[in-house]
Amino acid sequence: MEHYDLIVIGGGPAGYVAAIRAAQLGLHTACIDSFIGKDGQPALGGTCLNVGCIPSKALLDSSRQFHNLTHAFKDHGISADNARIDVAAMVGRKDRIVKQFTGGIALLFKANKITPIAGFGKLLADRVVAVTAHDGSTRQLSATNVILASGSVPIELPFARFDGKFILDNAAALNLGRVPKRLGVIGAGVIGLELGSVWRRLGAEVTIVEALPDFLGAADADVARLAKREFDKQDIRILLAAKCSKAEIKGAEVHLSYSDKSGEQTLIVDQLLVAVGRRAHSQGLFAENTGVKLDERGRIAVDQHNWTGVEGVWAVGDCVRGPMLAHKGSEEGIAVAEMIAGKPGHVDLDLVPWVIYTEPEIAWVGKTEVELKAAGIPYQTGSFPFAAIGRAVAMNETAGMVKVIAHAETDRLLGVHMVGPAVSELIHEAAVAMAFHGSAEDLARICHAHPTLSEAVHEAALAVAKRAIHKTN
Ligand code: FAD
Ligand code: NAD
Repeated sequence: MEHYDLIVIGGGPAGYVAAIRAAQLGLHTACIDSFIGKDGQPALGGTCLNVGCIPSKALLDSSRQFHNLTHAFKDHGISADNARIDVAAMVGRKDRIVKQFTGGIALLFKANKITPIAGFGKLLADRVVAVTAHDGSTRQLSATNVILASGSVPIELPFARFDGKFILDNAAALNLGRVPKRLGVIGAGVIGLELGSVWRRLGAEVTIVEALPDFLGAADADVARLAKREFDKQDIRILLAAKCSKAEIKGAEVHLSYSDKSGEQTLIVDQLLVAVGRRAHSQGLFAENTGVKLDERGRIAVDQHNWTGVEGVWAVGDCVRGPMLAHKGSEEGIAVAEMIAGKPGHVDLDLVPWVIYTEPEIAWVGKTEVELKAAGIPYQTGSFPFAAIGRAVAMNETAGMVKVIAHAETDRLLGVHMVGPAVSELIHEAAVAMAFHGSAEDLARICHAHPTLSEAVHEAALAVAKRAIHKTN
């Protein structure tokens, strides 16, 4: 039986990054992945590269360019008559980007002498891994260490089964052949907002039906309120506290039944995206006698070091606890590879930044006020609007603000929340400061270039001690 120092099951960002780091550290490594790309060929990169982060950002950018051309450029004195979107060309560009990146992982594997194995991996007892290739053939391998990195799959609602034509999951919503006239979305979470934005910017009437009464409950309440105001202006209809019960396909329409405070309602759309969260993928991943356990939410149970409790068996990424984010998974992959190689690996789940790539963008790191109140931690806040930032005004992108939350007694940064232009990048200044246990005063004393959007971070930090310069505190 072929033996490896490490076998990684799953080639998404958590798995492929673990494999590369392990190979850098001299471990003889194989990575098994079952994903089949749009062209019918095995493709590394998992959800993130194939049907998640990268393709969604490609379409977000195309649709943003189109929206700017048709709406925003006028103010700059730029006009373009008869602007049109060629959806096939836009999706084709997205596919080329995906191919470039999935192919890039294959090249990295080659350069690092990692063995890629296309097929389905199943952990058996004593770190034997059974591989079923896509042609049905099987073989067994053994390893000193195994990392389970099987990712997640979209949650399906029993009354709205994905059919790829009318009722869509994320993969199908990234591959539409034309702009639907009416797009319904169940779930005002990250996918609903991002993919809803893509198709709204291209002209679809978008209605998002959300079960919870609060919009973006995980985000800072002021950020969520400001973002909601901007989505309202974009005519993205968001129906809160709406409970869906039935989705029927009638002719070429989907009739979605839901109830809200006014009673039973029906939303009629051409296509319906279901984006109500994802669940850990663990089906067929390990045999019962391995000792690997699932937690109460069906995720692979691990400790703070991503160890499953079974000798030499680890799990990382979306298939374990913590936020389902690519960068969280890849950091775990690196940490586990380093621990296997005898080094001290570490991930601080409290400092994983969140970004929602809508317009305006939403980003945060650390705690919200709601979480701090619940934990009884005293804090003070400082905020600053982009409307008072010269660079944002010059860019015509003034919606939003930065909020800094610091400990009321020690001034240590506890959370930084942003909504506005380029906050997907700005948030990392806060992440770095927090990783170094910085205070609001530290941020306030750092010279920020003028005129930049990052001055909003500087001013918000100054505002914690009520000494922002360009606003009355
Ligand atoms: P995955 O990427 O899901 O990869 C797991 C891989 O394992 C898959 O290829 C799967 O086929 C394979 N596999 C599963 N079981 C087996 C088995 N038994 N044998 C062999 N292979 C197996 N996150 C962000 O941080 N930023 C974003 O902008 C972002 N955008 C997203 C947009 C969308 C539309 C979606 C759906 C998700 C997005 N995410 C984003 C989330 C991100 O994609 C996931 O957090 C990330 O992909 C998780 O990485 P992973 O390696 O744990 O799992
Ligand atoms: P989500 O958890 O972000 O949002 C799901 C939403 O659906 C929630 O608001 C929930 O209350 C709502 N919901 C659940 N059941 C419902 C029902 N029956 N009717 C109406 N609403 C219902 O999940 P998602 O948008 O599917 O995304 C999954 C995960 O993928 C995210 O949590 C995130 O971890 C990851 N992701 C990240 C990014 C990013 O980092 N920018 C982008 C996309 C996806």
